[in-house]
Amino acid sequence: MSGVWAWGGLSGRGRWGGCARGEAGGGRIEQRMMVMKGIAVSPGIAVGECFVLDEERRRIPRRTVPLAQVPVEHERLDRALSASRAELMELNGRTREDLGEEAAKIFAFHLGMLSDPTLTKPMHELVEKEGVTAEFAVYTGFNALADRFAAMKDAAFRTKVDDVHDLAMRVLKHLIGEHSSKLKELSGEAVLVARDLTPSQAFGLERGKVLGFVTSTGGKTGHVGIFAQAMGIPAVVGCARVTERVSDGTVVIVDGDSGTVILDPDQATLERYKRLQERVALFNIGLKELAELPCVTLDGVPVDLMGNIGSPEEIPAVLSAGGQGVGLYRTEYLYLSNDREPTEEEHFQAYKSCVELLKGKPVTIRTMDLGADKYAGDQGEQEAAERNPMLGRRSIRLCLTNLGMFKRQLRGILRASALAPAGTVRVMFPLVTNIEEMRRARFFLNDVMEDLREEGVGYDGDIKVGMMVEVPSAAIMAERFAEHADFFSIGTNDLVQYTLAVDRTNELVAGMYNPANPAVIQLVKSVIRAGREARIPVSCCGEAAGELEQTMLLLGLGLRTLSASAVHLPTVKRLIRSVTISQCEAVAEKAASIDSDVAVSRYLRDQTRKMIPEAFDGRSVED
Ligand code: PEP
Ligand code: MG
Repeated sequence: MSGVWAWGGLSGRGRWGGCARGEAGGGRIEQRMMVMKGIAVSPGIAVGECFVLDEERRRIPRRTVPLAQVPVEHERLDRALSASRAELMELNGRTREDLGEEAAKIFAFHLGMLSDPTLTKPMHELVEKEGVTAEFAVYTGFNALADRFAAMKDAAFRTKVDDVHDLAMRVLKHLIGEHSSKLKELSGEAVLVARDLTPSQAFGLERGKVLGFVTSTGGKTGHVGIFAQAMGIPAVVGCARVTERVSDGTVVIVDGDSGTVILDPDQATLERYKRLQERVALFNIGLKELAELPCVTLDGVPVDLMGNIGSPEEIPAVLSAGGQGVGLYRTEYLYLSNDREPTEEEHFQAYKSCVELLKGKPVTIRTMDLGADKYAGDQGEQEAAERNPMLGRRSIRLCLTNLGMFKRQLRGILRASALAPAGTVRVMFPLVTNIEEMRRARFFLNDVMEDLREEGVGYDGDIKVGMMVEVPSAAIMAERFAEHADFFSIGTNDLVQYTLAVDRTNELVAGMYNPANPAVIQLVKSVIRAGREARIPVSCCGEAAGELEQTMLLLGLGLRTLSASAVHLPTVKRLIRSVTISQCEAVAEKAASIDSDVAVSRYLRDQTRKMIPEAFDGRSVED
């Protein structure tokens, strides 16, 4: 950690940013209709006004406040600066004790920057003269400083650019923290437009107020889509720079089937979409009737269609969509909805609700899968420290290094298992990568069982213990894992990302993310074969289970249990009832012989259309 850590200040004044797009001389430029394309992640159409949640820390839009609010912005700025100073002082002290003087110099350097009036005074001046928000003043002030460092001849100074950005983020965190409470201002119905939406934000949204989501980042199977599906609202992600093109109140159409987002639509477009919304409503009425019908193929083979949920509140939607139980309960949302870890009792109550709502139907409870793109409030430090969180300490890895927390959840699950017929509640471990993890997870489960037995607390002693197969190592070695698991559930969302080395949340590589990739098909096939040989059930609970394009393939490969969001169950059931297993097997055989994912997708779509002609385009406005 060498380099220049002492802060001596920089002379000269910063350059302040000019007007943002859409503003000139204080007025907003008249908008014209703009059609944008993103990634469709939750079906349906929403039309409404935008509510913009701009959480990005490195690009803060220039916003002005009324004259009367200028003193408030000065105060916010002062508060953010002094809160950051306090944090840095504490960090400085702690680091000196733990790591020594040299390491602590970093924070001393940051403190030095923050205490320099040549940095902070121009921020106040900007608020005063131009009436901008405190966050924009901070953003502009730090950017100017970073530019000055970047332009220096001395390489040691140039390396300080990252420090400046880091410090800017620290200060902005205090302002954007307040700013994020803007979500609480969401009073009426609106389409939420954001750069990204954290799981905690999405989870905290009041249902009924949000008509749809549009984000500028994200991929096909990220949490935004999963939340939107759970909420039954349309969503489009990966809509590049959408937050820069809208402001609160901009009218927007979100087409969650085609991935189209239309800003400031003209009258003719609005009417076209209104007609489409009516058609979709009719189509949905037809699908509802399906819920009552058995889920069997034309040749009489039953398929278990289950629902994926993030909270027990979603169970009624699963049941009314024809779901036969819950194939995946993503319990991490229990952690995300709170600033602290849930207690054993809170776990138990949530699982008890599931059992009560399901009235004897099965539920597979997955132990928490935090980390990667889902961090709970108290994991802030981990989030900041992990350079590659998708490959980091997530899921079962996190549980196995936090045994107290893991055991509290297992106790909750086991206690709930006593409330249902034996075998109804199952437990499943996510992201299992090696046999040792499975052994250890089972060992701790047994430990908890023993404790409960000693305490005289009831549980299902034969509870089925499964694992998600979502890492290539587990898929490749499925035969061995089958000796340690009572069932497998294939998590295609992660299996695709890890097999293809494509971040599932990154819109820049979304075109490469495809469960129809031949490598993924091969892995799925071998997991099913391993399960069959070991006589353990295999299901799929990734998004592929809810995609019509995948249904014939998955049935043809041998799956008889699919678990997906409630919103997808009716269409998948309709397709299942329209095919025979031998048709599906022929499709799977052919698909497995094609070597390009684009060609496999095209082939699967064509085959699906033969069964249901309007499968993909019946709900699209383009037809
Ligand atoms: C998966 O990876 O396919 C899965 C179902 O888990 P999650 O989407 O919660 O990572
Ligand atoms: Mg997963």
